[in-house]
Amino acid sequence: MTQPCKACKEQIEQAATKCPRCQAYQHWYRNPRMVGWLWLPFLVFLFWTTGRVNDSPRFVDYKDKLIVSIVDENPAANGKARLLTARIGNRSDKTWKRPNFQIESLDGNDKVLSVEHISEYNVAVSPNSSALDTLSLRIVPAEPVAKRRVTLTEIDSNRF
Ligand SMILES: [Zn+2]
Repeated sequence: MTQPCKACKEQIEQAATKCPRCQAYQHWYRNPRMVGWLWLPFLVFLFWTTGRVNDSPRFVDYKDKLIVSIVDENPAANGKARLLTARIGNRSDKTWKRPNFQIESLDGNDKVLSVEHISEYNVAVSPNSSALDTLSLRIVPAEPVAKRRVTLTEIDSNRF
C-alpha cells in the first residue's frame, strides 16, 4: 500500500513516517521540530502562575486595613488556659486567611509579662468584613494581668 507524500506527492509507503525523497514528515507529531512546540502551553502556564504568585497581595502592604482586637476573654474549662475572642477586621477588598497573632499580657504599668504566638490555620476573613476567632492562651503569668495586647504578625492572602 502506498500513498502520495504530503509534500512532494511521490508515492510512498503508507506506514512511512518520513518521505524517502523529500524527507518531509508525514505526521506533524512525528516531526521533532513540531513536538518542541508542545512545551509552549506549559511554559505559558508556568509564567502565568509565577506572575500570580508575585502579584498576590502581601500583608505588609495591607497592615493598616487589617485590624485585630480582643472582644472577650474567659477562663478555659480546665482553668489553666485563657480563651480570648479576637476580631479580625478586614477593610480591604481581598480575602485573607491563616492569621498569626502575637498576644502580649501586660501589668498595670504596661510591663510585658508574657508573649505568646498563635497560628490559626482554619480562619479566613472575607473582603470588607470581620471574623471572630477564639484563641487559647496557654501562658498565664503568675502576676496579675491588667490588659492584653494583640497584634497580627502575618496573614496570607487568598489568591484563588
Ligand atoms: Zn516527499
